[in-house]
Amino acid sequence: MVSLEGPGVPPSEKPLAVPSYPSNCLQFAKLLKETASHVAQPKISPVNLNVILVGAGLGGLAAAIALIQAGHTVTIYEQTAVLGEVGAGIQIPSNSTRVLFKLGLQPYLKPYITEPESIAFRRWQNGKVIGKTKLVPDFVENFNAPYYVIHRADFHSALYQKALDMGVGIKLGARVVDYDPVQGGITLADGTEHSGDLVVAADGIKSVARKVLLEGQEMPFRKPRFAAYRAVVDMNMMRNDPEMSWILERPALNIWIGDSRHVMTYTIGAGQAFNMVLSHPDTSDPATWNPQRALEDMKAQFQGWDPVLTKIIGMVEKTDKWPLLSGSLLNRWTVGKLAILGDAAHAMLPYMSQGAAMAVEDGVALARSLSHMDSIEQLQEALDIFEMVRIERAGQMQEASLLNGQLWHFADGPLQEARDAAMAPEVEGIPFSHSPNQWSDPATQMWCYGYDADKEIDAAWTKAGTWKVSSVF
Ligand SMILES: Cc1cc2nc3c(=O)[nH]c(=O)nc-3n(C[C@H](O)[C@H](O)[C@H](O)COP(=O)(O)OP(=O)(O)OC[C@H]3O[C@@H](n4cnc5c(N)ncnc54)[C@H](O)[C@@H]3O)c2cc1C
Repeated sequence: MVSLEGPGVPPSEKPLAVPSYPSNCLQFAKLLKETASHVAQPKISPVNLNVILVGAGLGGLAAAIALIQAGHTVTIYEQTAVLGEVGAGIQIPSNSTRVLFKLGLQPYLKPYITEPESIAFRRWQNGKVIGKTKLVPDFVENFNAPYYVIHRADFHSALYQKALDMGVGIKLGARVVDYDPVQGGITLADGTEHSGDLVVAADGIKSVARKVLLEGQEMPFRKPRFAAYRAVVDMNMMRNDPEMSWILERPALNIWIGDSRHVMTYTIGAGQAFNMVLSHPDTSDPATWNPQRALEDMKAQFQGWDPVLTKIIGMVEKTDKWPLLSGSLLNRWTVGKLAILGDAAHAMLPYMSQGAAMAVEDGVALARSLSHMDSIEQLQEALDIFEMVRIERAGQMQEASLLNGQLWHFADGPLQEARDAAMAPEVEGIPFSHSPNQWSDPATQMWCYGYDADKEIDAAWTKAGTWKVSSVF
């Protein structure tokens, strides 16, 4: 049982025990406690490990920062010679900003972020608002953290700078070709070998480490049969057109949904560029894709949609097409002294905007679990607990993302009408208890954005300890 007590709670009051059942009834006291104690400090590990981290993507950098803050020594091995992020915008949802702030990222992110006020779901045909989530001030009030959008390159450079400032060692042009989970070793393409107390692989969707973990097997991907175009439009061009300038008046996410397709849009670069992700059905082999045709194909996919949207799509000058894949649920993320995290462990459809957010949570959860060790002999236990807690969370997020791929893509008909009717109260500002918009649905919201990785890890350690004690007698 976890008791809720802290600087904001008067000492005379008996501590409130957090219920073991799903409930938000103590949210008021939790917020009081968090406000009073500002940002909780990371737990320092009594055992200092020498950690080898593979991959300097968003997940690898966040994990490195969490691990070094917990007192470990961290060296990252990254295959590319020049660091960067491909693509344009990315959403940083509240569950992720809360964790990033705790890692000290707030001043690093501040110059680059845009804080959208709301998310509007729009009908494909005419742009009519059919669903609406208020982000400001609701998400800060309810989840104690803002919801941001940002250019990927800015997010990445903020994490990179913070990692450097904290003393993370980063080796570029260092491609890992093999792992030794028993010794905690890696072999680089140049033949050199390196070892540590722990190897953490954040090496992305095509992970080499995952194959080692699965004893040479490749994880079967669930193929949702979607691909996405990613594109950016110059906001100055849009501002000069009265038909579309209204979209830029307030920072917001707008998502047009229709039969098998959707278009997610928001402004990035602290309000400089209009970012678009255009999802559509595609079963073809990416090896056959012709980049020269991408722009033309993208425009054809959305013919007949809302004239305002198609006008914006018409302004796109360059686009890239991405395959969208969802990993299958793995039953382990660790073997010996090797652990995987981020897309390597749980690639997902971007339909909850949570892939990188899960990677950030993974890194924090791993650091927290290692901080519970009293000696290096407990490394296996710490990894087991990390794996158990995170497989459940990321697996559920994969599921929620796949579900959005169905909920958003109904063809016009009875299901679409019932879905739109169920979202009507949130558009009209009438109280509601459930919604097919997973940003708004109260139960999904609390699970998704209210998640606390530290708390989950602490509870799992407590449970493991209780289980051990009771199993002795
Ligand atoms: C269209 C789209 C939109 C998305 N939108 C969002 C969103 O709004 N919000 C969100 O949270 N997520 C979003 N995501 C998901 C997010 O982009 C990913 O989940 C996230 O970037 C994964 O980070 P990662 O560090 O695990 O992997 P990666 O970013 O793939 O990084 C892996 C790193 O490892 C390196 N590496 C790989 N192999 C080796 C090797 N053998 N040796 C050394 N280094 C190696 C790579 O070079 C790379 O730097 C979106 C994804 C897509 C496709």
